[in-house]
Amino acid sequence: MNAIAPLSAANAVDCAPVLKERGQREVFCGLTGIIWLHRKMQDAFFLVVGSRTCAHLLQSAAGVMIFAEPRFATAIMEERDLAGLADANEELDRIVDQLLARRPEIKSLFLVGSCPSEVIKLDLSKAAQRLGAKHAPHVRILNYSGSGIETTFTEGEDACLASLVPIMPSLAANAPKNLIVVGSLPDIVEDQFRRLFAELGITNVASLPERAVADLPGVGPNTRFLLAQPFLGDTAQALEERGAVRLDALFPFGVEGTTNWLHAAAAEFGVADSHFDAVLRPYQDRATTALAHQRARLEGRSIFFMPDSQLEVPLARFLANELGMRLVEVGTPYLHRRHLAQELAALPAGVMLSEGQDVDKQLDRVRAAKPDLTVCGLGLANPLEAEGLSTKWAIELVFSPIHGFDQAGDLAELFARPLRRRDVLRV
Ligand code: SF4
Repeated sequence: MNAIAPLSAANAVDCAPVLKERGQREVFCGLTGIIWLHRKMQDAFFLVVGSRTCAHLLQSAAGVMIFAEPRFATAIMEERDLAGLADANEELDRIVDQLLARRPEIKSLFLVGSCPSEVIKLDLSKAAQRLGAKHAPHVRILNYSGSGIETTFTEGEDACLASLVPIMPSLAANAPKNLIVVGSLPDIVEDQFRRLFAELGITNVASLPERAVADLPGVGPNTRFLLAQPFLGDTAQALEERGAVRLDALFPFGVEGTTNWLHAAAAEFGVADSHFDAVLRPYQDRATTALAHQRARLEGRSIFFMPDSQLEVPLARFLANELGMRLVEVGTPYLHRRHLAQELAALPAGVMLSEGQDVDKQLDRVRAAKPDLTVCGLGLANPLEAEGLSTKWAIELVFSPIHGFDQAGDLAELFARPLRRRDVLRV
């Protein structure tokens, strides 16, 4: 059943209706996040407690043959009835013992839940406690769910990071103010942001996650945090429950978003606007020049976002405001109104927003609109391409470095490339 619900805040887009759809959806599950999370947290291992399907998903999403020792695996749970649960727990304990004996470099182990019924019957938080007590202090054992029933594609990262918040060290009320950038970013992007914060004079900066789980930052009432990704609702809430304060901002995509995001921190940490402007000017100029090349290709072209990564709203704002693209529909699996308030306010008036999915109805709208570009999941891209529509895989946007000034041109290029390919094929 679909319903039109008004947004709450007062501006052009906030007053626009949002089409809410609750039908069949076509998205990857939260296990996918393991692919980028295991690269980021280099002392962590992800053990999916799942089925052969989960193992296949991980293997194909990783997209590589694994020659070295991998840092993720699937413990395959076979069908069993409730009476067999004791055996399943024993089996899991045995697999974890074997893994940790063979891989002494693992310092943190995530038990990742999935959706097969035989896994749902297992209490993984109890298993994590039991195994954590056994393997402490050498290994921390945490758990979260990447199940496709509970999570979409990027929510696996949210669940993983939220599971880390309770073990972050506590900072006292009189501790110096610190800043945490929340969201897994490629190292190169994280380093660029650290350099920018340092140039601005903000030095007490950490990331969640850090490159090692062992280096988790402290959190307390003087902690301020910036979300680097729009899909981290549970993590933000867990940080707020520990006293940290979220700095409200656009997300750091393009010149506009990155400037606004950095300015939220600069204002909070008392950086003078004149210094802020002087530090940022060369970065902004470089990014603006890079975008000018792409604007010529993208201006006036239409784009349709199917709901997938939850990056849709910030990316639509970037494409409309900085590259002149026309937004046909901006679909997102879940619209976090509080975290996206500034993004929604910055979208062009009258844009069609949809939340959730009823895939057949949405495909009908795509076919009727014939957009120049459709951003969607892998499963929908090939059929749409076969119908003559250009597509962009949403997953590529999560795997690629796209945040910040230095990546703005590359981000625009990701959208320009499929259009260019289609133009060449038409010639
Ligand atoms: S968690 Fe569920 S949706 Fe994801 S691969 Fe496993 S069975 Fe499929």
